[in-house]
Amino acid sequence: CGIIGILGRGPVAEQLVDSLKRLEYRGYDSAGVATLEGQHLARRRAEGKLKNLEARLVREPLSGHSGIGHTRWATHGKPNETNAHPHAADGVAVVHNGIIENFRELRAELQAEGAKFTSETDTETVAHLVNSYIRKGASPVDAVKAALPRLRGAFALAFLFEGQDDLMIGARKGSPLAIGYGDGEMYLGSDAIALAPLTDDISYLDDDDWVVLTRKGAEVRDAKGDIVQRGVIKSGASS
Ligand code: GLU
Repeated sequence: CGIIGILGRGPVAEQLVDSLKRLEYRGYDSAGVATLEGQHLARRRAEGKLKNLEARLVREPLSGHSGIGHTRWATHGKPNETNAHPHAADGVAVVHNGIIENFRELRAELQAEGAKFTSETDTETVAHLVNSYIRKGASPVDAVKAALPRLRGAFALAFLFEGQDDLMIGARKGSPLAIGYGDGEMYLGSDAIALAPLTDDISYLDDDDWVVLTRKGAEVRDAKGDIVQRGVIKSGASS
């Protein structure tokens, strides 16, 4: 229901939660974050209010400098901790707004290849699909590029990859997603309000765009894979 992603210069867990608080107005039933702790992905998720996630982060803190966060409005699978985002498959973590309509077919295909699912969500399928291309030798960017045309439905997605501290990939089809530009930092968010605590400089992805972020900037591509420019605007949302 709400997405935030940060490639930061310092620990990002607190900023992720702050942005999720701004997204509370959208409504949600659970929340979670994933960060890169050194080379490894670590997740903290909780059912219910953000204060449950915050309490979890006090007990089990995260110190990674890149991370993604999500507030969930369940469409497929009960609102509980195992179905809360981020979802992960080996070295791929993802947060998702929307619905993947063909997830049952994709899940059956991936299970036949040996993927082990741990949730009831449509979203987990996306993590396994991208991971399946990586296991076959694709880079994270090529894996996402191969996976996106296979997804039916509406989505905004943000991916984080094990061992890739300076990489985040976003994609949008039917659900909004914005890029935020910081000072040596880069962000993804569902809207200007999610990004308001971080930056006023944003650009919106068009439908079928996907974006590769590093701390140096964003490279946006369209469905054909051609690099496109999306204008940067002042959101004014932080004032
Ligand atoms: N369809 C996904 C789920 O049920 C994402 C829902 C959302 O947009 O929060 O987990």
